[in-house]
Amino acid sequence: MTRVQGPRPRAPADLHARRRVWVVVVGVVLVGAVLSATAATVWAQADRAHARLAFRSTARNVTATLATMVGRDSDFVAALETVLTMEPGLTERRFRAWYTQLQGRRRQVGAIGSAVIADVPAGGLARFLARMAAQKGQQQGVRRRVAPVAGRPGPGGRYCLISDTSVIGSLEPIAVGRLHRNWCDPTTAVGSVEAPVLARAAATGRLSVVQVSLPWIRTTLLEAPFYRRAGALSTAAQRRAGVLGWVIATFDTAALARAALAHNRGLAITLRFVNPGGGAVVVARAGAAAGPMVQRTAIGGDGRWIVTVRGGVAAAELAAVPGGWAVFGGGLVVTALLAALILTLSRSRERALEMVTQKTCQLRHQALHDPLTGLPNRVLAIDRAEQMLARARRAQVPIAVLYIDIDGFKHVNDTFGHAAGDSFLRSVAERIRRLVREGDTAARLAGDEFLVLLDTVTLDVAPELVAERLLELLREPYDLTAEIGRELALSASIGIACGLDTSAEQLLADADIALYAAKEAGRDRFVAFESGMQTAAQDRIALEMDLADALADDELSLVYQPTFDLLGERLRGFEALLRWSHPLRGPIPPDEFIPIAERSGLVRPIGRWVLRTACRQAAQWRAQGHELSVAVNVSGRQLDHDDLVREVRAALSESGLEARSLTIEITETSLMRDPAASARRLQALKQLGVKVAIDDFGTGYSSLAYLRQFPVDTIKVDRAFVSGIATSLESAALVRTLIELGRTLGLETLAEGIEDPDQLAALQRAGCDSGQGFLLGRPMAPEGVAELLNDRRAAIAAWAGAGL
Ligand code: C2E
Ligand code: CA
Ligand code: CA
Repeated sequence: MTRVQGPRPRAPADLHARRRVWVVVVGVVLVGAVLSATAATVWAQADRAHARLAFRSTARNVTATLATMVGRDSDFVAALETVLTMEPGLTERRFRAWYTQLQGRRRQVGAIGSAVIADVPAGGLARFLARMAAQKGQQQGVRRRVAPVAGRPGPGGRYCLISDTSVIGSLEPIAVGRLHRNWCDPTTAVGSVEAPVLARAAATGRLSVVQVSLPWIRTTLLEAPFYRRAGALSTAAQRRAGVLGWVIATFDTAALARAALAHNRGLAITLRFVNPGGGAVVVARAGAAAGPMVQRTAIGGDGRWIVTVRGGVAAAELAAVPGGWAVFGGGLVVTALLAALILTLSRSRERALEMVTQKTCQLRHQALHDPLTGLPNRVLAIDRAEQMLARARRAQVPIAVLYIDIDGFKHVNDTFGHAAGDSFLRSVAERIRRLVREGDTAARLAGDEFLVLLDTVTLDVAPELVAERLLELLREPYDLTAEIGRELALSASIGIACGLDTSAEQLLADADIALYAAKEAGRDRFVAFESGMQTAAQDRIALEMDLADALADDELSLVYQPTFDLLGERLRGFEALLRWSHPLRGPIPPDEFIPIAERSGLVRPIGRWVLRTACRQAAQWRAQGHELSVAVNVSGRQLDHDDLVREVRAALSESGLEARSLTIEITETSLMRDPAASARRLQALKQLGVKVAIDDFGTGYSSLAYLRQFPVDTIKVDRAFVSGIATSLESAALVRTLIELGRTLGLETLAEGIEDPDQLAALQRAGCDSGQGFLLGRPMAPEGVAELLNDRRAAIAAWAGAGL
């Protein structure tokens, strides 16, 4: 058994378990985060690799498409260039035919037009123009005016002449009257751009590309020189000298790029041309890049065309792919859920454990504590006593047990009700609790019985001193204003037992014996246990057990002591006195066994038996013609219950005895235990017609005047006063006063224990009504009574028969 504390402190094991759960949760979160990150990285890498692959493949496709388109354009220009090289004096018509033929075979994307530019030295200008005019005239069948040449010659005094009619498609708005335009005139917008490009193309012999951005047009021109067939063309100077002109083609390269991109959204392409001996020209841009990837590819035979594809996975596709972040986020969510699950499970388990522990503690507390006062109960008290004893044995210092009982508590309950009783007991518990020190234990054993265990190892005063203090404390009035409207003062009795090499149970039993002794000695005191009490107590216990069987075993009997009228010395009746003939011990005096019967409660069934037997006996006497009454002693314990009135009535009706022939003797102290209840019950008895006598009068504390509230017929003056009446003046004076008062109050007086004639004489002189004692008649068995009655009858008959 363990001690029970109030609020449960968190046990180290609990903390340990909780810490362990947190370690697991943190571990799960960390591992989860790492795994999520790893998975996300792998996913993202795969994602990126996939995106890269997709981009590369798309970019390749786009580039290839564009390469094909650009290749065709270049081929087209090269084809025209070849035609013109082979046939330098090509007429416009022939050129147009070639153009249509070359182009017709393939639907050229973005092709706008083409033209031939003639390289004309300043000296040959007039001839060239005349030839052109003749050509045109032939062609159209009309004679046309030779158009003036606009502008000035370009670098090297050369004219780069382009015939407006040679242009298929329109490069620039044709001004009326300007048949030829000089693309090398640096003063014009076109010339400033074209002159160097044409010169470079002529010098390198390669295709040149130029982006023309004019207010009216923005286009890309592919320009290729053609030369005289005769003559070397290996140096730039030779090429410059041998150039006849340029073939140019114009393309809508933006449309070209758009077409190449087709449906590949999320990509952007840039098409550049690296001019020979010159900078790169951005020919076209198309699309919008969605990703960061770049692929640059050189296309075309000479690698001058460069395609840059930018982007990545198409935006729509990207959105469809959850990607690394989604994996990471998902992993974190799963981890969080797992951690929450672990926490929840451990929490609910913890809660369940806590509830079980709480419930167990509560149940244990309930099992080990008195519910009314909250003090440890008997079980716990004994457990603590055992623990203290074990400690005491080690220290070789005995422990002390104080067994406390409230004097007359029962009447608080009976008179004021259980609520008042409970409140009173709680106050008692509180006072006791206040007095004991930390190492000591206060407990409630039962009813009004409390216990204090003193650890004398740490006690610096004698246990008797603690008992003294307790008595003082418990004697102070209790405030029961709420319950009964006033204060109440009760005393207590304490039995003390000390021990070392004994059991807790034994120690409690010893203290109980000492408590009994304290009660016997008059209450409101403490008594320390002595070994002699042990045997007395054991005897008492043995007797109590035997007494329980005595009634059934027919060991009880009644003797009757006569009472006489003191004036005429007439037999008035008998007092029934109980006898117990113990099978082994022989006769046991009532002064010895009646208190035992009272303590054990046996006095009630025994008292019932006495009443019935005495009434039956008296009825028998009366039936035999003797005008006798019978007095029956009733214990205070019997008076505690309303049953008494019923039992008296039953005994009377059962026996047929007239009520007035029965006297109930009650001691003064019994009456005073609960005056109100006593008065009420005596009143009920009076109503039956039964007489009431106060026994042992003068030994209690009450005054005669106080007794007037009880419906009493007779007072029995105690033997103690009678025995001194002839020798002690005080006793004589007291007896005289009592008799006088009784007479004043209209009460009959009866003197007990008259043993010698002097006493009888004194009582007669004092005017005492009746008497009882060995002098007049000893208590006798019913047979003895019968004998007496017969003797008296004989005596009376003899007296009457004498007739004298
Ligand atoms: P009590 O009621 O005062 O009874 C009178 C006692 O005095 C009786 O003692 C009786 O034998 C004794 N006695 C009578 N005359 C003399 C005398 O001249 N000198 C001396 N020394 N004693 C005398 P007993 O029978 O031993 O009874 C003792 C007490 O036991 C009684 O005192 C009574 O209180 C109680 N008792 C006896 N019978 C019963 C009973 O049936 N019920 C109850 N509740 N108590 C009883
Ligand atoms: Ca009596
Ligand atoms: Ca008496």
